[in-house]
Amino acid sequence: MAQHSLANARELDRKDALSSYKDEFYIPANTKYMDGNSLGLLSKRAERTLHELLDSWKTLGIDGWTEGEHPWFYLSEQVGEKMAPLVGGKKGEVIATGSTTTNLHQLVSTFYKPDGNKTKILADELNFPSDIYALKSQLQLKGYDSDTHLIRVKSRDGRYLKEDDIIDAMTDDVALIVLPAVLYRSGQVLDMEELTKAAQERNIPIGFDLCHSIGAVEHSLHDWGTDFAFWCTYKHLNGGPGSVGGLFVHEKHFGKAPGLAGWFGSQKESQFDMDHTMDPALDAGAYQIGTPHVLSLAPVIGSLDMFEEVGIAAIRAKSLELTDYMLELIEQELQGYGFTIGNPVDETRGGHLLLEHEEAARICKALKEDGIIPDFRAPNGIRLAPVALYNSFEDVWHTIQKLKTIMDEKRYEKFENKRGVVA
Ligand SMILES: *Cc1c(COP(=O)(O)O)cnc(C)c1O
Repeated sequence: MAQHSLANARELDRKDALSSYKDEFYIPANTKYMDGNSLGLLSKRAERTLHELLDSWKTLGIDGWTEGEHPWFYLSEQVGEKMAPLVGGKKGEVIATGSTTTNLHQLVSTFYKPDGNKTKILADELNFPSDIYALKSQLQLKGYDSDTHLIRVKSRDGRYLKEDDIIDAMTDDVALIVLPAVLYRSGQVLDMEELTKAAQERNIPIGFDLCHSIGAVEHSLHDWGTDFAFWCTYKHLNGGPGSVGGLFVHEKHFGKAPGLAGWFGSQKESQFDMDHTMDPALDAGAYQIGTPHVLSLAPVIGSLDMFEEVGIAAIRAKSLELTDYMLELIEQELQGYGFTIGNPVDETRGGHLLLEHEEAARICKALKEDGIIPDFRAPNGIRLAPVALYNSFEDVWHTIQKLKTIMDEKRYEKFENKRGVVA
């Protein structure tokens, strides 16, 4: 491996076809932002569409539902269509709605149909807590004991899952499978195609949580035949804190009654007939519940323009180059400080890396003091996400150099090794 230097980071930036997108974003002053997998940054385009929607309310009042540049009544469908290429969905298979957790509740309510001995839900022990809480509560709502009915596939090493272990757990008593696309700690990308195929062979509906994969890696949900998926838009999609999430339902399920019904899941033309018998939309729109959160959807419109312009393939390619470069720098600069790489080093890694260290909590505090924004994940993880649209190779260089200085000078020692309230 060639020795890397600041000069070579700058050379890589000069050759980078996406480098100009950095200027599209508001980067907090004097920082290298490495936390885009937790909360993406504001872009000028997202800010503009937020203002446009605010203006439509200001100038149109209630007519904003059907008039103006972005009529609110059709916004969830339109944003869904804009997101569809990111998940490999067809028009109508994707809708912008809800949040990750509420969409999971909707999809489990729709797809979990316990029958006879087939009553269990299959998940994994590395999944994000909110997903597990939702699955347990869904089991309890149906009268099942979540301790016995939620199967959590074990990790062999605490970091990764083996597809074979998951497939082995797809037994006759499993009625539904919910798994992450990219594991939120280690960043492992699961083989969604293989898992979908195995689930289909066993006649078990399968869905994926795309929170850490949408906007970072490619998906072909339609072609794979995946039953459903759900995600948030405030991580790699840069939609802003609490921005509206999304869901995918494969067209083979169109017409399936929503488990949780509400009037915004109606067919557009008949919604305002105000009939007490619901006439659900004939596509993924049926899984909306209430009035869309228009102002929290607004920034997503502008942000998605950039994904449309660049294409997810180019974003994934640069993301892999950035994390490759970061891995090489870690190897070059951070030997002997007690770090362990906790992410896959091959191309089954997603958009972020995980460095494990027993002092991780306070190393993160020292990094922040120095203007590097990482993400701490208890008990010992430092997540670093160099994001294709707004991070440079030079950012990666400085991040690793700062980390080295902090370790050399033990600058983390002045902090308590404890996480903050949000971390
Ligand atoms: C971020 C994230 C969530 C968050 O759920 P919200 O309902 O958006 O708060 C859930 N699951 C996973 C896997 C996540 O990464």
